[in-house]
Amino acid sequence: MTQEYMKEMKPAYTMITIMEEAERCLLCHDAPCSQSCPAGTDPARFIRSVRFRNFKGAAETIRMNNAMGSVCARVCPTERYCEYGCSRTGIDKPIDIGGIQRFVTDFEERIGMVILEKGPAKGKKIAIIGSGPAGLQAAATLLTKGYDVDIYEKNDKAGGFLRTGIPEYRMPNHIVDVEVKRIEDLGAKIILGKEIGKDLSMDQLKKDYDAVLVAVGVGKPNILDMFNGNEYAVPAVTFLAEAKAKEGKVDLPDNALVIGGGDSAMDAATTLKVLGVQNVTCVTRKELVDFRASKEELETARAAGVTIVDGYAPSAVDGKVVTFKHRKLNSELKIEADLIVLAVGQSSEAGGLGLTMNKNEVGFEGYHAGDNVFAAGDITLGDKTVVYAVRKGKEAAEAIDEYLGGK
Ligand SMILES: Cc1cc2nc3c(=O)[nH]c(=O)nc-3n(C[C@H](O)[C@H](O)[C@H](O)COP(=O)(O)OP(=O)(O)OC[C@H]3O[C@@H](n4cnc5c(N)ncnc54)[C@H](O)[C@@H]3O)c2cc1C
Ligand code: SF4
Repeated sequence: MTQEYMKEMKPAYTMITIMEEAERCLLCHDAPCSQSCPAGTDPARFIRSVRFRNFKGAAETIRMNNAMGSVCARVCPTERYCEYGCSRTGIDKPIDIGGIQRFVTDFEERIGMVILEKGPAKGKKIAIIGSGPAGLQAAATLLTKGYDVDIYEKNDKAGGFLRTGIPEYRMPNHIVDVEVKRIEDLGAKIILGKEIGKDLSMDQLKKDYDAVLVAVGVGKPNILDMFNGNEYAVPAVTFLAEAKAKEGKVDLPDNALVIGGGDSAMDAATTLKVLGVQNVTCVTRKELVDFRASKEELETARAAGVTIVDGYAPSAVDGKVVTFKHRKLNSELKIEADLIVLAVGQSSEAGGLGLTMNKNEVGFEGYHAGDNVFAAGDITLGDKTVVYAVRKGKEAAEAIDEYLGGK
């Protein structure tokens, strides 16, 4: 079953099928797809290039606007963004924009295109804390403007949740390697295994660099109090990180219970099924109509054979038996499982860096966090998606440039 885990689940287009898909595009004026990409990747423009078989031009459009182009092609919840308003929907179904983007970025890689170039040197140094998509995108934008960039990463590999969270069958590590190498080739120095706030102080960084960008994400898993110390319970992000690092070769239970209804819950449940666990039940507080996970993730989990029970919240736990109560009905449910995966959200550890976080909603508003410190990615307010991290990385880089007199 590890073979299935290691293989990209969604098939890629061929040269023939990509043209068929691109030819469905209506080449809209003021295209809704381009207006609703948070990162400004401009699908209408790159699909038009594909229509004229100009794959190089298409790759340039994607890469100039989105340094994480190959990643977004695979994991972006497009049904929420570019495909949501696609004019083709009225005729049959939206254009598969993610699929076309994947074909073009795979082509870019296959022929070794180098699109982004370092700008004329400005003689100013920026430190970025965190090598997830926000930090990597900010690095790319700053490098093209001529800044020197050092990225500090506490893990031993770069990529943030692209590397440790999203399963291999959706986000292969070799694609993350390629995206990271592009940023290194552009001139970024990535310092691995260095945790800011522990191995090096924030004050030191503020002194040593002209500006510091905090892009540390929300990596700390939340735990429901009743599961504290429970030997059968594990946070979803911990389970997913282990499965990815060990290429799926992890100890498996006979049956598993996943608690939660977001992307991490769907990924954990599908991973367990793909790896061969017979019974996987996912119980979520939300009802299916208000589901947080993307439609594709939900459909993938169901197709893999995950049983989804909605509207129930955990009320008690006794060892491996969890009791749930329905939020509206007078109904109780008891489920026994050898593994209980908790996918009930994550929070930030940015407090350890001396930054004041918004108490109600995890995150900063805006980009400038005082002195020469800026913030981007999941720790800022807004959608917690890769494409939003890219957008925020770009905007934070612009804010730093403005602060340092670049404009
Ligand atoms: C299981 C899962 C599935 C997901 N699926 C999708 C999906 O399908 N589509 C989608 O768009 N989004 C998805 N997401 C969300 C997406 O991964 C995040 O929105 C995105 O990665 C946020 O980027 P970031 O750069 O802000 O933070 P992260 O990717 O979290 O990166 C932060 C980095 O900072 C490092 N760091 C933290 N503290 C320090 C420190 N003190 N010093 C040095 N380094 C530090 C961390 O080690 C990490 O590498 C998923 C998330 C998870 C967990
Ligand atoms: S909205 Fe849909 S049909 Fe119109 S340009 Fe974009 S992808 Fe093509």
